[in-house]
This record gives sequence, C-alpha cells and structure tokens, in this order.
Amino acid sequence: MSIKENLQHIKAELPKQVTLVAVSKTKPIELIKEAYQGGQRDFGENYIQELEDKHKQLPADIRWHAIGHLQSNKVKYIAPFVYLIHGVDSLKLLQEINKQAQKNNRVIDCLLQLFIAKEETKFGFSFEECESLFQSGEIEKLKNIRVVGFMGMATNTDNETQIRNEFRSLKNFFSHISSLTSHIAVLSMGMSSDYKIAIEEGSTMIRIGSSIFGERNYTKV
Ligand SMILES: *Cc1c(COP(=O)(O)O)cnc(C)c1O
Repeated sequence: MSIKENLQHIKAELPKQVTLVAVSKTKPIELIKEAYQGGQRDFGENYIQELEDKHKQLPADIRWHAIGHLQSNKVKYIAPFVYLIHGVDSLKLLQEINKQAQKNNRVIDCLLQLFIAKEETKFGFSFEECESLFQSGEIEKLKNIRVVGFMGMATNTDNETQIRNEFRSLKNFFSHISSLTSHIAVLSMGMSSDYKIAIEEGSTMIRIGSSIFGERNYTKV
C-alpha cells in the first residue's frame, strides 16, 4: 500500500479524540511530502539535526513533534518552532526548555515521559518521581512551558496483557494528575505494534512510523 493508503487505513479506525503523529525519522523528504499531500500535518522526529533540517525544507504549517530522548544542549535548535516535546524526563530539561522558549518569546508545550516498561533501555520518570515534581511547585514557576500531558512506551513484547497493563497504569496516573492540575489533556502512547491496545486503554495521541512509511529495511515483494 502507498503512504496515503496507509494513512487512510489507520485514520479510518481512529476515534476522533486521538491525534495521529506520523513518525518520519530516517525517512526522506519525498515520503514526508507524500504524507503531507495525503492531509497529514503532525510529524514526529527523534533526532534534533534531522528535525531542524526537515523543518527548513517542508511546509510551515507542519506541527513538529520531538519524540525522542532530548539532551538539554540541543533544545535551542528546536525551540523556535517545535510544536510539542514528548520526551521530557527531568526538571533540568524542563528548565532548559523554559529558558529557550523565553528567548523565542513562546510557550512550549511538553509531555513528561513516564517509565512504564520492564526494560532498562527506556527513559522517563517513575510515577512517584513525577507526582513529587507536580507537588514541588517547580513546574508552575516555569512560565514559558506548559506541561500538557504524558508520554510512555510499553515493553517491546508479544505479551498483550503486559502491554495493556503498562498502558493502563499510565492512563490511571494521567487521570489522577488531571484531577489535581489544569492543562493535562494529552496522553501519548501507542506505536505501530501496539497502538490499538493503547487506544483501548485511553491514548489520545499515537506515534506511528513503520505502519505508515514501511519498515526501515522493508523490501517490496
Ligand atoms: C520510532 C518511534 C516511534 C514509531 O515507531 P514505529 O514502531 O515505527 O511505529 C514512536 N515513538 C518513538 C518514541 C519512537 O522512537
């Protein structure tokens, strides 16, 4: 199937509160244009240099999502234009985003990344750390960022029950914090392999790469 067909296929099944972010990391400009022509406006990238380059070359109405692990010293490159930063995993990083947003006269929306997987390779706060951060009052001090929700990645496993339980734990945390704080509205969870489960468990934003653009080393038969 073509990129446009893949997009249509995924969108046809999405509840309307769920936003589709097309993850275009490592994909060439031509393929992103194809998705754009198919009506897609939200794109996610992991690597800052790539995000910057693509932003320069592509239409200005694209909403660029930084979805990967972000280093503080890279924030300045995306602060002028980034739409949403998904992977915030420390107060220090939030403070840097705030500083760079201020320089650009903007308020930047951020998601805090929660560690929900049983893997050592994924970043993020524990639920306890994240709740303490809200209680500390440090977030409110930062006038040029807005924490609008959470992001999480489930374990890379075939065990559907485990994936479901991990997403459910994040959804419960999301509901808990949104009852205490304003602005919390986005729950970014679900990738190509597990987005259907994520939606059933309350995701409002899915990040899909390979199901739109094909596997990185995909060969047509
Ligand atoms: C690559 C990536 C995705 C998309 O993964 P697919 O399996 O290709 O859909 C989503 N989220 C993050 C954080 C990623 O790095």
